Amino acid sequence: MSRYWSAVVHGLTPYVPGEQPKMDNLVKLNTNEHPYGPSPKALEAIRAATSDALRLYPDPNADALKAALAKRYGLQPDQLFVGNGSDEVLAHAFMALLRHDRPLWFPDITYSFYPVYCGLYGIDHRMIALADDYSIRAEDYLPQGDDRPGAIIFPNPNAPTGRLMAIADVERIVAANADAVVLIDEAYVDFGGDSAIGLIDRHPNLLVVHTFSKSRSLAGLRVGFAAGHASLIEALERVKNSFNSYPLDRLAIAGAVASVEDETHFQESCRKVVATRDALVEQLTALGFEVLPSAANFIFARHPLRDGAELAAELRKRAIIVRHFKAPRIDQFLRITVGTDEQCAVLVDALEAILGR
Ligand SMILES: *Cc1c(COP(=O)(O)O)cnc(C)c1O
Repeated sequence: MSRYWSAVVHGLTPYVPGEQPKMDNLVKLNTNEHPYGPSPKALEAIRAATSDALRLYPDPNADALKAALAKRYGLQPDQLFVGNGSDEVLAHAFMALLRHDRPLWFPDITYSFYPVYCGLYGIDHRMIALADDYSIRAEDYLPQGDDRPGAIIFPNPNAPTGRLMAIADVERIVAANADAVVLIDEAYVDFGGDSAIGLIDRHPNLLVVHTFSKSRSLAGLRVGFAAGHASLIEALERVKNSFNSYPLDRLAIAGAVASVEDETHFQESCRKVVATRDALVEQLTALGFEVLPSAANFIFARHPLRDGAELAAELRKRAIIVRHFKAPRIDQFLRITVGTDEQCAVLVDALEAILGR
């Protein structure tokens, strides 16, 4: 606290990201990074962009990246917005599109950055409880008479549960709320879900946000994007151009374009993670864990006989880091990022030892 702070700062509750320990030889399964590296073509493009041209500002509109994304997703460039990680894209969306007199609706168990943005921008919100099986119930997001949202946001698959909503249910929510923006945060959709990007031509109130941090293995480069009707994109551009003209630097634009163009590497590396995930789910189930169905690159699991915090602490003693949330209803769960086959084998061996199996 300081008397020099702007008044709003006293009331902020910042997001706490998963730990990035400064230690080697850890089995790091706590922040949903991709276990395999980015496209070699992306690395090559970043090296090629590391030149004297860095004295020049980058393209403020990142047109090359919008063109590559437009081609990949069958969109027009004016249906795309790019930013410095999807967290920045989301922040601009909260400001530009989700701040209304009526409250913003989102699940009570979800990406914990959403309430943080609400605090930053003073957005009234309603947190809607997940079903007993930890799924998001589409019915809960349909307007009931005058009880309707100012806007809606949720991840699909949801985080930290990994549970996927069927695309037909997503469209039901979007169609029933034609007067409100519905933002689908598809950070994990490439690991087994159907994207809602295909719906944006039919629904001018739908915004879909993606990140390069998970499925494209470029968390360190900080690139994310939004797809939606051109008028939604214009609102994002207005906020962005009132905030920072150059969110993507030259290296990020070059690396992201090459990543989008390397479809083979993208498909192959996601397929490997999905295969490892399915094997890991079987192994943990055999150890007695209850594992929620996951369409993401992480799983959410609890053991009926062992406390979640205690399991996380025992794993940490063995240099294996997973994420544990001290929050109601989920404090018995571990969120475990799908690592390489080798990392998952180390995890399973450690859990066997801890459980005395
Ligand atoms: C990881 C994640 C993000 C943020 O991704 P960045 O692009 O790295 O900022 C956004 N939403 C959800 C649900 C995530 O899990």
